[in-house]
Amino acid sequence: MRRIDIDTTTTQPVRATRRRSGSLHGFALILVYVLVALLPLAVAVVAQAPGRPGLGDLASSIAMVGFAALLLEFAFSGRFRLLTDVVGMDALMRFHQFSGYVVLLMLLLHPYLYALFPGETGIPGDTDPGGSALAGVTGFIAWFGLIGLVFAAIFRDDLPIPYERWRLGHGVGAAIIAILGLVHTLGAGTAAASPVVAGFWIGAVGLALLSLLQVYALRPWLQLRRPWRVRAVHSVGDDIHELTIEPDRHDGLRFQAGQFVWLRIAPGPWGLREHPFSIASAPGDGPGLRFIIKANGDYTRQIGAVATGAAAWIDGPFGHFGEPDDDDAALLFIAGGVGLAPILGLLRDRLQRGDQRPMRLIYACRWRRDLILQEELDELTRGLDLDIVRVVDEEDRPAGAQAGPVGAELLRECLPDADRRRIGCFICAPPGMIDAMETLLVEAGVPPGRITSERFRYRFSAGSPIARRTRRVYMAVAGVLILAATLFALIS
Ligand SMILES: Cc1cc2nc3c(=O)[nH]c(=O)nc-3n(C[C@H](O)[C@H](O)[C@H](O)COP(=O)(O)OP(=O)(O)OC[C@H]3O[C@@H](n4cnc5c(N)ncnc54)[C@H](O)[C@@H]3O)c2cc1C
Repeated sequence: MRRIDIDTTTTQPVRATRRRSGSLHGFALILVYVLVALLPLAVAVVAQAPGRPGLGDLASSIAMVGFAALLLEFAFSGRFRLLTDVVGMDALMRFHQFSGYVVLLMLLLHPYLYALFPGETGIPGDTDPGGSALAGVTGFIAWFGLIGLVFAAIFRDDLPIPYERWRLGHGVGAAIIAILGLVHTLGAGTAAASPVVAGFWIGAVGLALLSLLQVYALRPWLQLRRPWRVRAVHSVGDDIHELTIEPDRHDGLRFQAGQFVWLRIAPGPWGLREHPFSIASAPGDGPGLRFIIKANGDYTRQIGAVATGAAAWIDGPFGHFGEPDDDDAALLFIAGGVGLAPILGLLRDRLQRGDQRPMRLIYACRWRRDLILQEELDELTRGLDLDIVRVVDEEDRPAGAQAGPVGAELLRECLPDADRRRIGCFICAPPGMIDAMETLLVEAGVPPGRITSERFRYRFSAGSPIARRTRRVYMAVAGVLILAATLFALIS
């Protein structure tokens, strides 16, 4: 039997949590986002920058807000802990994708407003011949480039290129679009005739590009001082490996259970072959980090061949999956397949913290062979007030397992025996299952604010009440930006 080291002597009190205050922080973050996106309009007013006649001002203000929102997208790359820790990776990436559409919409509108109302707009080359050929060409290339960038992101899974190459193209493409957009803005924008406005745009683009440098140069350089080594790799299931790494002459990583890191196994910390993986161990497990990795593509298929002692590098921790509130009366964990990884870390953490609340784990897999680490899970039930409900879709199920997929009836039966308004729920599963579980939980009376989900795939979804609520918030943000740009054009 596999030995698991659960050190209950380090029991700590149940920690005060940030989940409830997380939504307040999320609101504050959205407010900051709106204010920063509208900042160029404020700068133009303060600098008394010249405008355009008629609808030209609307075209310009929409472009200014759209360009600022485009530059803000650099901050939503998922590598800034201030952001991922506050709203979580899932919400952040969804916001990144949604605001990509908003930026595209605004910047698509920009030339159309000129084209639709010629003569009223003060279009460069018309009343303002100051728009140079360079400004025109860069504007067109940036415009088409942005369309290409957004479509390549929407249809990424269908593109015949590896994810790493797509990611490189996405980052480099965004940087080129930002530079071309800057040249266009400085050459064709009337407001940019003001040195203050021009300086603002140069600074904003500079910051956006610096954020890329920070991710791809500074952070790897910092990692050089904190190398890791692969301690062990072994198979724990069909196409599923457990990988552990240990710090190489440093004291390891401070993280919270359920967080994830970007992992690179290579001689050096540079390059694009790094992938996000949830930490399947708990902070109290010691300085090593454990990952449960399912073969899902070219990189993850090679994990089993990684040599013990190989150099590893990590960037993180990121995310805020899995901090129960103190006033959660009971906890429900739902793991779909390899979604067990962060939940294992959470359960181990609960055990080490001496959490005695009633807990239930629904562990669902398509095939019985995908149920992994059964002995470790059983051992956790001995230290926690934890019931495990195994669910398998295929007919050949182990004794005691329920027939999947998890539906309304099974979920209701599995809800811990507590006030449903106070059940803290943590879901990590394939996107479709997350949507289904969120929907069923909300229908069963669990408040959306008590449900936290972690997605392993960044996809903008509107398949559950929580996802729809998030989408409504984002649409309101887009509406505020467009309304503010319109008001600005009308009153300036
Ligand atoms: C926050 C988070 C935590 C994760 N935790 C785990 C875990 O604990 N265990 C596990 O098995 N898997 C986890 N994943 C998924 C894992 O990162 C992908 O399966 C892996 O990166 C696939 O890489 P590949 O080259 O093998 O497959 P590919 O065929 O190259 O990619 C398959 C899909 O995985 C995604 N993907 C690939 N590379 C990346 C990347 N660098 N960054 C983001 N997404 C990528 C893309 O959606 C891609 O379409 C996690 C993902 C995220 C976002």
